[in-house]
Amino acid sequence: MSDFVGMNGAEERFGDTAAQREVRANDRQYVFHSWSAQDAIDPLPIAKGEGVRFWDYDGNEFLDFSSQLVNLSLGHQHPGMVRAIQDQAGRLATIQPAVANDVRSELAKRIVDVSFDGARSVFFTNGGADANEYAIRMARHHTGRNKVLARYRSYHGSTATAITLTGEPRRWANGTLDVGVVHFMGPYLYRSAFYAETPEQETERALAHLEQTIQLEGANTIAAIILETVTGTNGVLVPPPGYLPGVRALCDKYGIVMICDEVMVGFGRIGEWFAYQAFDVKPDLVTFAKGVNSGYVPLGGVVVSDAIHQTFATTPFPGGLTYSGHPLACASGVATFDIYKDEGILERVRDLGERVVAPRLAELAAKHPSVGEVRGAGMIWSLDLVRDRATREPLVPYNAAGEAAAPMAAVVAACKDAGLWPFAHFNRLQLAPPLIISEEDLERGLAIIDAALDVADSYY
Ligand code: PLP
Repeated sequence: MSDFVGMNGAEERFGDTAAQREVRANDRQYVFHSWSAQDAIDPLPIAKGEGVRFWDYDGNEFLDFSSQLVNLSLGHQHPGMVRAIQDQAGRLATIQPAVANDVRSELAKRIVDVSFDGARSVFFTNGGADANEYAIRMARHHTGRNKVLARYRSYHGSTATAITLTGEPRRWANGTLDVGVVHFMGPYLYRSAFYAETPEQETERALAHLEQTIQLEGANTIAAIILETVTGTNGVLVPPPGYLPGVRALCDKYGIVMICDEVMVGFGRIGEWFAYQAFDVKPDLVTFAKGVNSGYVPLGGVVVSDAIHQTFATTPFPGGLTYSGHPLACASGVATFDIYKDEGILERVRDLGERVVAPRLAELAAKHPSVGEVRGAGMIWSLDLVRDRATREPLVPYNAAGEAAAPMAAVVAACKDAGLWPFAHFNRLQLAPPLIISEEDLERGLAIIDAALDVADSYY
């Protein structure tokens, strides 16, 4: 039991095993969960959170190394965030999108101010999938073309077009819900589709492959290329030098809109407002969600270039959402900008990433044979776990249903048993703690990962 106090009502049920049982039973009876066979799951009841930690009703504590779904950048119950939402709720809790409102326009201005040259406006959505849907819709109207190129090893969300854009098994059972989508391979040197041996070769060959794809699909049929600037869930794939500028050049050459999906890596995850800023590239549309307000209230959006904004200057944009630019969400977005500045979040992410995480993960790779490769930046990293370093066979090969099998389940269980909530996907143990994490907690979590890797080694 913890001595945690101060949460309205929650503390009364904290350490209460009956509450743990009751919440679990009601969940199993009434809640339909995402991505799961309903009878096969047993979700952990969570009573409360504070900073980088959360607790179940029994009082078990977890250090969150996944920021929930890589959204909780400012941690649980940040006082500045809670206050901004409370203040806004006291003034104007909700207002429809067709009117103007101070926090909505203030947040749009702040986002445009940290975006690329030529960024003009922000279209607000409820999250990441719909941000991608609307970005694609804008690109299609802007170009008058229909096809969209998206990469394998990507996740873009679960609504119709977004799940079709997604280039991994979560798409499989959904079929093709948007017939305009075509997939291509992006760079991933460790498992190169292009038989490349250096980052330069990987870039050159990935770009040649993309250009051939464009030509074979018909350049004048392609509205947009969408890519995660740094691929998140599917392995923290950091683009090799020259790749993103090369994609930009192809977009310019063929009149294609370049969309960077920054839902996971935007808002400081790699120590920049937007990840593309680290790679010398200027997109036409940028989608964001998660970190914009740490998910305190659902919020996402699209940053729109002036050229695309002008397409809809006299022609109406055919789309909208009841909760576009919701005041509670926007107020917490504005607070996010203030807190990032006051707490020097971007600087500390870069510092901790380079000074603490990178060297420590390099040590773990040297110590544990099951670590095939370490990749990442700032506060998002991936350990690509293998059965054999020579063949690079993944610790969990995809099975027919695309499900994770026993070895990774054991690695994840070792983390959870030691009080660490990890971010794992297929054969990868990933790290994405809240950006406010202290150096001490970072070391604590890395020590638990070190011990969990002994389990991974036992399958090597
Ligand atoms: N794009 C990326 C890169 C993501 O990581 C996610 C979610 O994880 C999405 C889009 C979808 O966002 P949402 O779940 O808010 O719809």
